[in-house]
Amino acid sequence: MKDKVFQWIDENKMDIANFLSEGIKRPSVNPFFTDDVNIIKEKRYQEFLAEFLEEMGMEVTLWEPKAEELSKYKGKAGYYEGRDFTDRPNLHAVLKGTGGGRSILLTGHADVVKAEEGWTEDPFGGEIKDGKIYGRGTVDMKGGIAAMIMAVKAIKEAGIKLKGDVLIGTVADEEAGGMGTLAYVDKGYRADACILTEPTNLNVQPLCRGILWGKIKIKGRAGHIEMNQEDWRTGGAVDAIEKAKLYLDMFEYLNKEWSISKTHPLLSIPCQVKIAQLNAGEYPTSYASSA
Ligand SMILES: [Zn+2]
Repeated sequence: MKDKVFQWIDENKMDIANFLSEGIKRPSVNPFFTDDVNIIKEKRYQEFLAEFLEEMGMEVTLWEPKAEELSKYKGKAGYYEGRDFTDRPNLHAVLKGTGGGRSILLTGHADVVKAEEGWTEDPFGGEIKDGKIYGRGTVDMKGGIAAMIMAVKAIKEAGIKLKGDVLIGTVADEEAGGMGTLAYVDKGYRADACILTEPTNLNVQPLCRGILWGKIKIKGRAGHIEMNQEDWRTGGAVDAIEKAKLYLDMFEYLNKEWSISKTHPLLSIPCQVKIAQLNAGEYPTSYASSA
């Protein structure tokens, strides 16, 4: 049985690669990162998947989550008040088993982050060249989605009938917090096991860390950068950048502690506080009044 599946995969390698490439050609950048209408929102990619899954004989449901309907999760992970899912559907598909078996959910996220700069190929061109596929989301995670869908197709095409149901769930809005998955779970879809095909260098990763995004606003007081400043207690300038440096140093100190105290044998790196963005100052000749 296994041989038949692998044989189908070998015989259809290029179709599998093309399926991924076609997915990359349908940009699905999370609107959290940009408002460029030509590349944002998950709809065109989700509809492409839906059509493919229907052709495979799966029952497909596409729906746009509603933030109001999820308000019961307020204050919990994955809930963001007022998040707009217009043209950003979740997808659920089922391949019905013959009965009496256990079910599995294969899941992934349909959105990608912004392409940013430095690309040698079109990030939404899906080019296949020298055994490599280029494009935003090739690894994270249209590759994983292509792999899981094609795995189901390979099993089907090899003539294997599964007893249990296979569920496929591709969700919107993972890159900005995970509300798509919250909406998926809220719909009541359940399975006996679940595989999330995020890239893990082909390692089985039975856990992942949680992520908390934060923002720190540091206040200073503006003042001319070329003038002698009075003491801060009598109204002199306070450089918010100078103050921010204290925080950066303390985070470094904290991270050194955490590199020993916050580790897990199944996580390759310890939990850390990482600074990803810095904004400070208002004017080249003034001390920063905020950072
Ligand atoms: Zn991902």
